[in-house]
Amino acid sequence: MDQVVARQSLPDTPRIFGFFVDGKRMEAGERAYFERRSPGHDVPVTRIPKCTREDLDLAVKAARRAFEDGRWSRIPAVERADVLLRAAQILRSRAGELAYWETLENGKPISQARAEVDGCAGMFEYAAGLARTLHGDAFNNLGDGMFGLVTREPIGVVGLITPWNFPFLILCERVPYILAAGCTIVAKPSEVTSATTLMLAEILSEAGLPDGCYNVVTGSGSVIGQAMTEHLDIDMVSFTGSTAVGRRCVEAAGGNFKKLGLELGGKNPQIVFADADLEDAADGVAFGIGFNTGQCCVSGSRLIVERSVASEFEKLVAAKLAKVRIGDPLDPATQIGAITTTAQNRTILDYIAKGREEGARLVCGGGALDFGRGQYIAPTLFADVTGAMAIAREEIFGPVLAVMPFDSEAEAIAMANDTVYGLAASVWTKNIDKALNVTRRVRAGRFWVNTTLAGGPELPLGGFKQSGWGREAGSYGIEEYTQIKSVHIEIGKREPWVR
Ligand code: NAD
Repeated sequence: MDQVVARQSLPDTPRIFGFFVDGKRMEAGERAYFERRSPGHDVPVTRIPKCTREDLDLAVKAARRAFEDGRWSRIPAVERADVLLRAAQILRSRAGELAYWETLENGKPISQARAEVDGCAGMFEYAAGLARTLHGDAFNNLGDGMFGLVTREPIGVVGLITPWNFPFLILCERVPYILAAGCTIVAKPSEVTSATTLMLAEILSEAGLPDGCYNVVTGSGSVIGQAMTEHLDIDMVSFTGSTAVGRRCVEAAGGNFKKLGLELGGKNPQIVFADADLEDAADGVAFGIGFNTGQCCVSGSRLIVERSVASEFEKLVAAKLAKVRIGDPLDPATQIGAITTTAQNRTILDYIAKGREEGARLVCGGGALDFGRGQYIAPTLFADVTGAMAIAREEIFGPVLAVMPFDSEAEAIAMANDTVYGLAASVWTKNIDKALNVTRRVRAGRFWVNTTLAGGPELPLGGFKQSGWGREAGSYGIEEYTQIKSVHIEIGKREPWVR
């Protein structure tokens, strides 16, 4: 399949996908389908069934059966680890194919998609280790007559709702941890990027995951996503997406009190001090806003820069952005690809127009790029932005950077915290005291010092404030998918209550 990537060819006809329940591919049959056009080329590439609530019920029943009969939840963790390690191997061997379909549906550069699949394999490997180290606690200090245990149990059937910006990476930051905990899954990918979530079903079956442990129901968020959060037989929903839809999930889950994991939006600050390595920082800031066309929950979309170097730094960043290779996502040299959806393309262009109307100064970019087909936007930098402007406050989810100057460390921290979000932040300085103060005071779940967007399976992900609840990945990631049980064990005879 690597040959497919090397050829850079588009499929002649759209690939037809089914959905996946109880270890079997289910055909779309009479169901309507979503036809996905490649955002980089504007040709149809995949067709995905629009599943119904009945399909969801079938998948939840399969996941429930698989959970309750213990085929996965009660086997020794070492056997779960074996399956996860085999899945990692298969992922690596099919990385080219997975990256190809990810790129076609999402519009991201093929080289980036390939690197993401490698990262996903690492998630499976790390979670395999966690399956075996997950443990509870013991209390041997309760006196001669009592012994205490705290055990962790898998939470049960987990509904997994994912967005379109990193369809496979976000999936794999969750699935191996959920499976490592012993839970079973019903996944609902975004309706525009479902292919690789369905391909993972084949891979997990081939790796030896028992039937019913990973099911995929495709369809719209308003039908399937909503039904998942309302479903009485799903124990937990892990939702990744916008803060607005996250709020709807909270309302829907309020009716049944299921546990929710929420990974939501961000308006993430990049704080640059005058004493930073400015060349290095400019490259990091350009990467932070250009990577994945800025359609990244953790993209550094607010540049908060010390006034004494603001003008010099603005030019350095603009020069970096001018050199970035933008274009056909299937070209291995491309660094920035297409905007994933037509609606998102419109949203970003509207924000660029708003930035101009609000009086911000356009330094570079500022509009669509025409490559003959597909939808592309030039990385855009606005200076003279004030904290009241929409481009400084709202998540744009595109390659649009708002620059705001500061005069003191305290002011930089206040500006960084002046948002309803708290997902991520970066600080650039060679002064350790400033780096630590800022890291401690800025309220964000992920922090980078003299770098940005670094990640991996070891460190947890998640947000403060309106960026979400709970954590994914790392040892915290597996714990989220467990329930804690405390056990008191009487040794010898109880002190009688009735005498
Ligand atoms: P979205 O909220 O529109 O959709 C996310 C998922 O929710 C999709 O699968 C969608 O079909 C589903 N959905 C839609 N309506 C639903 C409903 N009523 N109930 C349940 N599910 C529903 O988000 P998107 O446009 O796909 O992705 C972009 C957003 O995701 C951005 O705000 C971004 O910041 C956020 N995001 C956050 C993280 C993170 O880790 N914090 C990661 C990636 C993306």
